[in-house]
Amino acid sequence: MLTFNELGLSPNLLRGIEALGFEKPTTIQEKIIPIIFEKANDITGLAQTGTGKTAAFGLPIIEQIDHANWSVQALILAPTRELCMQITKDIQDYARYVPLLNVVPVYGGTSISTQIKALKNGAQIVVATPGRMLDLLNRKAIDINHIKTLVLDEADEMLNMGFRDDLDAILERTKDSKRTLLFSATMPKEVARISKKYMKDPVEITVGKQNSGAENVRHIYYQVHAPDRYPALKRIADIHPDIYALVFCRTRRETQEIADKLIRDGYGADALHGDLSQAQRDHVMNRFRKRNLQMLVATDVAARGIDVSDISHVINYNLPEELDIYTHRSGRTGRADKSGTSIAIVNFREKSKIPRIEKIIGKKFTKLPVPGGEEICKKQLFRLIDKMENAEVDEEQIAPFMETVNKKLEWLNKEQIIKHFVSLEFNRFLAYYKDAPDLNKTSENTRERFPKKEGGIRKNKNKYNGSSHNARFFINVGKKDGILPKGIIGIINDHTRDRDIKIGDIDIKDSFSFFEVREHDGEKFMGTVRNKFKGRSIKIEKADKDVGGRKKGKGKRKRIYS
Ligand code: ADP
Ligand code: MG
Repeated sequence: MLTFNELGLSPNLLRGIEALGFEKPTTIQEKIIPIIFEKANDITGLAQTGTGKTAAFGLPIIEQIDHANWSVQALILAPTRELCMQITKDIQDYARYVPLLNVVPVYGGTSISTQIKALKNGAQIVVATPGRMLDLLNRKAIDINHIKTLVLDEADEMLNMGFRDDLDAILERTKDSKRTLLFSATMPKEVARISKKYMKDPVEITVGKQNSGAENVRHIYYQVHAPDRYPALKRIADIHPDIYALVFCRTRRETQEIADKLIRDGYGADALHGDLSQAQRDHVMNRFRKRNLQMLVATDVAARGIDVSDISHVINYNLPEELDIYTHRSGRTGRADKSGTSIAIVNFREKSKIPRIEKIIGKKFTKLPVPGGEEICKKQLFRLIDKMENAEVDEEQIAPFMETVNKKLEWLNKEQIIKHFVSLEFNRFLAYYKDAPDLNKTSENTRERFPKKEGGIRKNKNKYNGSSHNARFFINVGKKDGILPKGIIGIINDHTRDRDIKIGDIDIKDSFSFFEVREHDGEKFMGTVRNKFKGRSIKIEKADKDVGGRKKGKGKRKRIYS
């Protein structure tokens, strides 16, 4: 195994990565960095999240920047704003001791003029979402003619989010003389197409088994009645007193709901989803990073940018609609050689998905019974006692108080003191788990108690809290086009340039779909939709029938633009 030094990095860069605590290159870094230095090839890197891809392309890119030249020399495309910010920060961290390096992130949902200014001030490395990049190109605010390196990070995710045409348009505008690096956790047809169309004899680097979950992640599932998901989640948290977890939900609304419940029940938890403002999201992320939160409840889209390396558990509050996403979720734990656990809470109907996921990740799940009250109480008690035993006793400091303490406790013997001590901290658990029911499904024939209503973005009949005025829109892509709710959210966010827009029901039909936004957000859908989805122009039209009506989806559509 080579060291960073042996990979040929310059001293300033070595200092930067040393300051970050990187001791040796990860496998993908060891494989890719020499190719970039020594050969002219394009590269496709197939690797799970957490394998260190950012440094694999970031370090050599920094090395190859011509510092005297202020034009754009490397372009990195990534699917989300969070990821753009993360990559920018990572590159700045590596280059901490490298003078004269300018990295500029550009992404949608925020003022384009500020970004144009930043680009004008000199940007050698640009990190961009495809939508915003194309916008900047169309405004002639950026010149990518002379880039030496193009990186497509998380290519599968960019395509999932409907960026195919944007990517095509951007790639068309770069010169053949550049080097292209494509990174992806999976290699669906669409990614292979991009690689085939735009890359020259790429060297393929695969780290770990393709599509497999990270080696050091254990996969567990618990089977419960749908209405018992939440109590099961609590038990999982309670049986792991030191849990530091990401909890994935499918919808923004569910994400908020679960976080609210956890907070109300006394857990250090909060929500991360697209309905929050950027400032709110930053605040939540900071608290999570500092471990002021034990559980972060997030949507898949919002969690994309999260880079926290020691997450102990990933919890699938329910399984993702698109099973490939499970790989992304579980890849959030077990990073940088640490072990982690990915947990799925499944109801009877979802159980059939487990073997399908096993095929994707190439690993087996272990089915565990949901822990019972007594087991949890024992665990918590043990931890309490452990903490007590390990408490540091400062003899000197405490000495002056001991006489009073002893006097006050004179009437209790040792055994009683222990009982009091335990009860003090522990009554909450004992009370909660007194007569706690068994949450494990005893018979598979037991009918789900509320199966029809449970989960699923499409079945979410509830409207945003307190608002009854929603506007319903028609969009001309549906199941046949392979669109997922996430893709629709991506289109909406990108079109409105507003990631904070509240999105309600998404109803995906065969060849078209409906989505809801608040009435006052409706006007944001005036004007041509620039995105395409799999080559098709996208049309969004106001659906005639008001949302509350029975005729959902059947009302005549009034075209407001095409
Ligand atoms: P990926 O893009 O493959 O998901 P990242 O580049 O975000 O992975 O890296 C994942 C985590 O591993 C980050 O926290 C990063 O700081 C850390 N990391 C990357 N390279 C190394 C290394 N050589 N040694 C230790 N930690 C590393
Ligand atoms: Mg990455």
